[in-house]
Amino acid sequence: MLPNFSYVRVKSVSEAVKALAAPGTRLHAGGTDLLGCLRERVLTADKVVSLGGVAALRGISVPAAGGLRIGAMTTIADVAANKQVLERYAALAQAAASVASPQLRNQGTLGGNLCQRPRCWYFRGDFHCLRKGGDTCYAMQGENQYHAIFGASACCMVHPSDTAVALVALGARARVSGPGGVRTIPLGALFLLPDKDVTRETVLARGEILTDVLLPAVAPGSKSSYRKVRSRGAWDFALASVALALAVDSAGVVTQARVVLGAAAPAPWRAEAAEKAIVGSKLTPGVAARAAEAAIAGAQPLSQNEYKLALFRGIVEEQLLAIA
Ligand SMILES: Cc1cc2nc3c(=O)[nH]c(=O)nc-3n(C[C@H](O)[C@H](O)[C@H](O)COP(=O)(O)OP(=O)(O)OC[C@H]3O[C@@H](n4cnc5c(N)ncnc54)[C@H](O)[C@@H]3O)c2cc1C
Ligand code: SF4
Repeated sequence: MLPNFSYVRVKSVSEAVKALAAPGTRLHAGGTDLLGCLRERVLTADKVVSLGGVAALRGISVPAAGGLRIGAMTTIADVAANKQVLERYAALAQAAASVASPQLRNQGTLGGNLCQRPRCWYFRGDFHCLRKGGDTCYAMQGENQYHAIFGASACCMVHPSDTAVALVALGARARVSGPGGVRTIPLGALFLLPDKDVTRETVLARGEILTDVLLPAVAPGSKSSYRKVRSRGAWDFALASVALALAVDSAGVVTQARVVLGAAAPAPWRAEAAEKAIVGSKLTPGVAARAAEAAIAGAQPLSQNEYKLALFRGIVEEQLLAIA
């Protein structure tokens, strides 16, 4: 059962920012993650502020400077079906379409997908782990088959969002509003690794709201893709996923590359060594194999998730050859 809390439905971002100033206040977008966390007592709230009435945060538009602006309250289903996203940002369309089930994509929003809380079963259960302010990460020595192979330090959860992985590959930026005004940051910088703060997944401070995601204009010869592997054919979180965003010249040589791994680390994880292995070359089978090997270099698997190495190696190689 849901605990008692007061509920405020605001009409504007500035009203939301004011309402969020009080301690114990939580933001509600589609509610598909938040309400589960409150019901299961993973989180507590004295007051919940709904963004459902803030029309300015819904929709997808082309800014004067080019690219694409997606309001944080746009549903994941609308992102997946949008013509411009499908034509120009394939990785995002594919990632959004792979999120959960049709019902959750219709209700869940892009902002909520990026700011959702971890799915680690200890975090979601009755365990007062480090991320909840306790003093132990239960997964490190416990059941960790779905956990991180990179960037773990104190907490080895993996970031659960599919769209985050694609957006980091596409070089998106996040616009944030808060008590101090508006700021825009690279989307990759929105996410926090546990060595910076083990209790938070994003850099959003109290009262700050993610309002828009901004995609850069697409250069000629750009291609992108997202591939997700899950443990069953139905809806599920990723066991491993890879987003690619490449620029290829007329001779077939890769001039820019981003390779981002999902379900690999507590934040979307850029495989920079794989990017270096691709840039300046044509995507031959040999180059794809070398890049795939480079993508997992330096990984530190836990006791039960070494299988992820072969999985990531396989997906990176397969996706590079497919995109070639
Ligand atoms: C059964 C199930 C399966 C799922 N499978 C997948 C999957 O395969 N892939 C995947 O990516 N996700 C998956 N999800 C997660 C799902 O995508 C999220 O629940 C959803 O995207 C959250 O969106 P929402 O609008 O409902 O957010 P809410 O539940 O309203 O909010 C989620 C969190 O984000 C915060 N928040 C929301 N909007 C903002 C904002 N604009 N600014 C700052 N903070 C904000 C809220 O305070 C809350 O803490 C699954 C969820 C469920 C329940
Ligand atoms: S992995 Fe993170 S969320 Fe999971 S038990 Fe460890 S500290 Fe908690």
